[in-house]
Amino acid sequence: MNKNPIKKDHSELICDISEISGLFEDTGDLNVFLQRTVGMIAEHMHCDVCSIYLYYYDKKEVVLMATKGLNEKFVGNIRLKVGEGLTGLALKELRPIVERNASQNPSFRYFPGLGEEKYESFLAVPIIRGKRKIGVMVIQNTKRNFFSEQDVNALRAISSQMANTIEITRIILSMEKQPSKKTVEEKPKDLTFVAGKVGSSGIAFGEAFVLKSDQNFVSEKELKTKNKYTLKQFRRALEKTEEQLENVQKQVEETLSDVASLIFSAQILMLKDQGFVNAIEELIKKDVNPPEAIIKIVQRYCKRFESIEDAYIREKSHDVMDIGRRLLDNLTGKKSKSFNLSEKVIIARELFPSDALKFSSMKVGGIILLSGGVTSHLSILSRSLQLPLIIADEPALLDLSPGTKILMNGEQGDIYINPSKDILTNFPDKKHEEAELKKLQKGVKAKTETKDGTRVYLMANINLLSDMKVAADFKAEGVGLYRTEFPFIVRDNFPSEEEQYVIYKKLVEQMPDKEIAFRTLDIGGDKVLSYFEHHLKEKNPYLGLRSIRFSLQHIEIFSQQIKAILRAGKNANVGIMFPMISSVDEFMAAKRVVEDCMDELKEKNIAYNTKPKIGLMIELPSVMEVIEELAELADFFSIGTNDFIQYMLAVDRTNEKVADLYLPHHPSILRGLKRVVDAAKRHKTDVSVCGDMAHETKFMPYLLGIGIRKLSLNANFIPRIQKVINRMTIKDAEKQTKNILSKSRLREIVELLE
Ligand code: PEP
Ligand code: MG
Repeated sequence: MNKNPIKKDHSELICDISEISGLFEDTGDLNVFLQRTVGMIAEHMHCDVCSIYLYYYDKKEVVLMATKGLNEKFVGNIRLKVGEGLTGLALKELRPIVERNASQNPSFRYFPGLGEEKYESFLAVPIIRGKRKIGVMVIQNTKRNFFSEQDVNALRAISSQMANTIEITRIILSMEKQPSKKTVEEKPKDLTFVAGKVGSSGIAFGEAFVLKSDQNFVSEKELKTKNKYTLKQFRRALEKTEEQLENVQKQVEETLSDVASLIFSAQILMLKDQGFVNAIEELIKKDVNPPEAIIKIVQRYCKRFESIEDAYIREKSHDVMDIGRRLLDNLTGKKSKSFNLSEKVIIARELFPSDALKFSSMKVGGIILLSGGVTSHLSILSRSLQLPLIIADEPALLDLSPGTKILMNGEQGDIYINPSKDILTNFPDKKHEEAELKKLQKGVKAKTETKDGTRVYLMANINLLSDMKVAADFKAEGVGLYRTEFPFIVRDNFPSEEEQYVIYKKLVEQMPDKEIAFRTLDIGGDKVLSYFEHHLKEKNPYLGLRSIRFSLQHIEIFSQQIKAILRAGKNANVGIMFPMISSVDEFMAAKRVVEDCMDELKEKNIAYNTKPKIGLMIELPSVMEVIEELAELADFFSIGTNDFIQYMLAVDRTNEKVADLYLPHHPSILRGLKRVVDAAKRHKTDVSVCGDMAHETKFMPYLLGIGIRKLSLNANFIPRIQKVINRMTIKDAEKQTKNILSKSRLREIVELLE
């Protein structure tokens, strides 16, 4: 392979989402969009040819859909079976195929007139979402031996960034009419109050929006509208809708660059699609009133989406409804009440983290979920997004009619349905909340000490890059836990080393001289990757291929992450910690991967952090019996109490039905924590707590009493925790701890903690 990379900085290219979004501009139809895509890639990769092939499941073949550099007359006509030709081979083996002398390869398939034979350098990368085949991207060049390893990585990253958009393109292009599902109407139950649990605090008051795939996006009244509109007005509404969506996409990119991915891309693309737009215009030209034309076509598309087997795609019918709603609003100039999600309270059975991101950028008021737990990762992400979230196992909430007023008290977990004036006047509003937050921010001190002068370090838990601002505002003394998995969860494919590097670098740059602990990929459990089929099939996901188990089974993905961390943390105080370690062997195996990555970077002359601290999370009961050995081997321990409690007590942290058994104050938990800290002290191993116990005021005396001096928590909690610590003395804390440790009954412990 060519060792001289092309001069273009690929990391810039792949993260430039706005550039990809720019491809949608003025696009007449999806074919034009694909054509633009190949043009952009060819230009960035400095190559003569770029082509996109899409995979069609029914025929099990890829079809050339766009090309820059080959004979365009062949678009739509070149078909290859999986495994056929070098392109088909890339899809069959789901790996990049690089050839310096393509025509000499026995797999090379010659098509007279296509003009491929003069391009000897060949690179094909499968476009996949996990194991789901979408197509193949191919670049070619006349010069032999043209493509470097960096090119392979860059093209992989581009294909992963665009996989979702390209998949939607393929679906729209090949959609056939299929029967729609039946709507089941149920009588709503009379609800006035539901007590739930707080997933993410905050208050919201707004209309209910129940997320169901059979949701109708127009009201009866709108269906009967008599107001007449013109084609010109429709086109103006179309333009305005495009602008709106592009603006929200841009805003997401600015505020959530690490996870923005192309959240609104499918919708923007649809508005650019001539098939969709023409269908509406044709009806208008036949004298159908534009609102009616929009409704008809949107409903037709929704039905098609809803009839697709894949749940992920089926969900997309909401996107189509959203487009329809926006178009109608922009046409009629009315702000519809039904589908505009701003300030609304979303009620859903279950959500993906990417939904939370989307809703947050649509400025919803809050979310009520029927399933999940307060330490679930959707809750954790919602806290980062400052989105109130309540978990309430009350199916009748799904039957609330649109427009029902909901008051969410995310401080207590209370949900009021159509609350009376009395209730409303007793509730602080958002402005009050913001003012309170500002006050707290002002009062927070740079250093935290107990009343008797013992120093305690308050670090931040970071889920999204945007949390770094909150961490700085609340004077966090570093990052005790960076949950690296969120960029993995909201994407459509594994982010490449380059993509991760860019994100990690931004993180490190924001706290250049402070300690930052990178927690390696912790997926599985409730953090399923929609693109990784295996996860969707696990019966017992928390006991399955989660966290370090996944990383050690997928060394390539693991190594890419480690290399990205080592490179980004070149001049920083970086720690790498492994989640869900169960044994000394597992810790050693993970550590070895870090060492191998360092060797590789050294060999390639790539700058990296040569002395990262290597630690592990204490989350599983099995480490208790080998805690001394681990303390000797590791540079630091970080106690993940969320999982420690879950696994010690065998209580699913996301299962609302056993939430009463999830007990941080269980004597086994408290004694277990002490054992870990004692072992760490004996071996002078740094130890901190980074689970939710670290932000619960009632546990402060106990944690400090057993010797904890470092806590990592969601930065919003820092002022509250700092105040509690300021008022304590270590002597009193130790006394209380001793007392607590002597008790084995829950009730006695509760009394002491309070
Ligand atoms: C924990 O388990 O306590 C922890 C901090 O990790 P996570 O919540 O991401 O599983
Ligand atoms: Mg954990």
